Amino acid sequence: MRINTRYLRQIEVIGKENQFKLLNSSALVIGAGGLGSAAIAYLAGAGVGRIGIADGDVVEVHNLDRQFIHAGKTGMNKAESARMFVESLNPDVEVRTYANFSKESAYMVKKYDVVVSCVDSLEARHEINEVCFKLKKPLVHAAISGFDGELMVFDFRSKDTPCYSCIYPRACRAKFNPVVAPVAGIAGSMQALETIKLLCGYGVTRDLLRMDFRHMEFFRISVSKRKDCPVCSTP
Ligand SMILES: [Zn+2]
Repeated sequence: MRINTRYLRQIEVIGKENQFKLLNSSALVIGAGGLGSAAIAYLAGAGVGRIGIADGDVVEVHNLDRQFIHAGKTGMNKAESARMFVESLNPDVEVRTYANFSKESAYMVKKYDVVVSCVDSLEARHEINEVCFKLKKPLVHAAISGFDGELMVFDFRSKDTPCYSCIYPRACRAKFNPVVAPVAGIAGSMQALETIKLLCGYGVTRDLLRMDFRHMEFFRISVSKRKDCPVCSTP
């Protein structure tokens, strides 16, 4: 396989071998909203060869301040709109689209090397966490609210990795999160970066990163596996 010139700048940093790895890798992005728009755009641009996109919502005008990949596609399904964006940005990337994620979605997670969680409800985050833990699939999590964001990579291939439920107790409620548009772009771009590092075999942070963009303060929090975690503790 020949690498075309589109990756020239990136190859100067990561090398040809890692670029080949990316082109032969796959990522499932769940949620094509604010976080997902940035994550999908950078994963596709960087040449992650196969990208799955799961989202059952349609594009609305009030999404467009941060969900730039859906420009001009109001009323269209977000996964389908994201597919069109990726295909126009980088024809090297193969895209598959899915409806919303549920606990029954293990079949789609199995097909990918890594899962990128870009959803906006706690319930969905817990469902994704449970499926990824069961399948030992690395999970790149981010969440945003107002001027704040957080990021964590759960690499379930390692036995001592904590899970999302170790940090946040189960709470089944959907929450509408107001957000300043660029916060979504920053956190989603960080998810793409951590995913690329993970796929190339670079080390990724094992800490929870909390980001206060209002004051530009960043905190790394060391998180351990919780002994009584209902998801990942061993009896
Ligand atoms: Zn846990």
